[in-house]
Amino acid sequence: MNVVILGSGAREHALAWKLTQDGATAHVLPGNPGIPGSVPSIDALDFPAVQRFCEEQGAKLLVPGSEATLAAGVTDFFAQTDIRVFGPTRQAAALESSKVWSKNFMQRHGVATGQAWTFRSDQVTEALAKAAELEGRVVVKYDGLAAGKGVYVCSSEEEVKAAIDELVDLHSDWFSFLLEEKLVGPEISVMGATDGNSIRLLATSQDHKQLRAGDQGPNTGGMGAYCPVPFADDNVMAEVRRDIIEPTMRGLQASQFDFKGFIYFGIMLTPNGPKLLEYNTRLGDPEAEVLLPAMQSSLLDLITAALDGDLSRHDVWQRPGHYAGVVLASGGYPAPKFPTGFPITGLDQLADDTLVFFGGVKAGAEAEQLVTGGGRVLVVVAHGDELNDAVQQAYAEIEKISFQDAYYRTDIGQRPSPILTRVY
Ligand code: AMP
Repeated sequence: MNVVILGSGAREHALAWKLTQDGATAHVLPGNPGIPGSVPSIDALDFPAVQRFCEEQGAKLLVPGSEATLAAGVTDFFAQTDIRVFGPTRQAAALESSKVWSKNFMQRHGVATGQAWTFRSDQVTEALAKAAELEGRVVVKYDGLAAGKGVYVCSSEEEVKAAIDELVDLHSDWFSFLLEEKLVGPEISVMGATDGNSIRLLATSQDHKQLRAGDQGPNTGGMGAYCPVPFADDNVMAEVRRDIIEPTMRGLQASQFDFKGFIYFGIMLTPNGPKLLEYNTRLGDPEAEVLLPAMQSSLLDLITAALDGDLSRHDVWQRPGHYAGVVLASGGYPAPKFPTGFPITGLDQLADDTLVFFGGVKAGAEAEQLVTGGGRVLVVVAHGDELNDAVQQAYAEIEKISFQDAYYRTDIGQRPSPILTRVY
């Protein structure tokens, strides 16, 4: 079976790898020179070109990797064809692409989440008054897609003002934003596949957004991830299901729109129970790079069952043990500009069971040579019986790979277990 994956990062590499393990032939549009089956000449957002490619290959299944193609309406575009897309319609993708719409959905359907207030860009005075009431302990969230850059976690009124000023500077047009109560607690990512009625969850995971160890430095697309999360035990997950996942599913069932695809719950475990921070309408990156290797059962069967509306009869099995993924990044990332084009060496030294998923890479001058081409260059993924074994192995392996100015975070999967003050 031919499957077409849209995107060019390490997440799309992991999707292609898993679907190939499941017996599919994976094509990645445009992919990158590190991903087998890449088709660099086709832009994922050029839907007519994607359609022509699918027809040439007889591919009947399309799996979008990133939010960009979903927000551009890839599912709506292909609705009139016999090519099935595993992702929500543009309207349903607003669960991710609009923070205001998404918060309204959560509130309407009783999903546990922080309190929030919506303002327009011409209501800055009112927003600052609200922030003052909350002593500046609020999170400012831009309404639209902002590639991870639209959220400001503030601790003072000055910080709130600076955040809103920055949004006003960045966006010449009218826009909306949320002020959300600032919550505290460890964060987990919960992802699953849904057919709009039922959901099947993958393992729990945690990513590491900041550039430097100890959650210091600027935010990035994610510097590493691991799964499953030891402290997200059965009690925690029972609450997550009751307070977040089940109300969400009731909301999806009651909605007019069609949601067949991956859904991602970004959750904070607060002293008052789990709270939903955000939905994404696709797999996280780099979480996908550990979740897909951890999945024992077939992703192809899971996607097919969801598209058939048949998930309630489908089981997902996880492999025992833990997976850790560490990102090897270009020095200078996440600044807007940094040097690339450096040859990547040492890939042939890796242990047989180590996985490498490629993101920001380009073809070098010599055959088969990969050079750096972006910020997050690759992800090294290792398995271990215990989380610490997986982490040690991932670091032992990443040290074998080198390129000029290579950088990685040294504490992936090593956050101290949170002290949950709550009695469950
Ligand atoms: P979001 O895109 O809404 O998930 O926000 C990105 C990050 O901002 C989250 O992963 C959290 O670390 C932080 N964040 C978002 N909302 C809150 C909140 N209400 N309280 C504290 N931190 C938050």
